[in-house]
Amino acid sequence: MNIINADLSFRDGLSYGNNPKMVILHHADAVICSIEDIHRWHLQNGWSGCGYHYFVRKDGTVYIGRDEKAIGAHCLNYNAVSIGICVDGNFNVEAMVESQYSSLLQLTKSILNKYGISKIYGHFELYSTDCPGSNFPLDRIKKEAVEGENCASYPGYLIKMNSGLEDDNVKIIQNKLIEQGYDVGRCGADGYFGEDTLKAIKKFQLDIGICDDGVVGPSTWNNIIK
Ligand SMILES: [Zn+2]
Repeated sequence: MNIINADLSFRDGLSYGNNPKMVILHHADAVICSIEDIHRWHLQNGWSGCGYHYFVRKDGTVYIGRDEKAIGAHCLNYNAVSIGICVDGNFNVEAMVESQYSSLLQLTKSILNKYGISKIYGHFELYSTDCPGSNFPLDRIKKEAVEGENCASYPGYLIKMNSGLEDDNVKIIQNKLIEQGYDVGRCGADGYFGEDTLKAIKKFQLDIGICDDGVVGPSTWNNIIK
């Protein structure tokens, strides 16, 4: 996950003392925009600047908006007890691409772990709005962000290269490999076991000193997941 500090300059400074108890998810409600656009829009609202703590682009790049310790400006009544993440797009009219979802999932998980919390909300669950949109994968991220914590068990079959078939267990492995710094190719954790995933698995197997056959059996699975 590539995190860039957008280095925004905030008007009148920020208020600190944020005490995160939950992650609140938003969309930008614009098909394409940058963190600088959001910063400008929020300044125009009369705020100090970008109200979100993070912004995730479609290519999976994560930008830092406000410092996590700064009180946000993204969800009335919850700004001092949450981390606000905004994703680029309008999920009333489009679906989220996997590169973006994968970064959003990693970012959300890392925040939950850091603060020892487990609550994730879509903005509309806390305020009268349609944000983050009807196509936003809210149920999926709520499930998957917490799921990784209770180590998925070996699914009971050998997972081998088969780039024509989507497999959720391949996605679990890819996410774990990405978290550990392995490159599974430009599509990220897409659930397809192709050449790049094969390379990453072989490299992982070599790194931990087991047979690098590129096949995920119980031993490789348990070492990747733990
Ligand atoms: Zn929102």
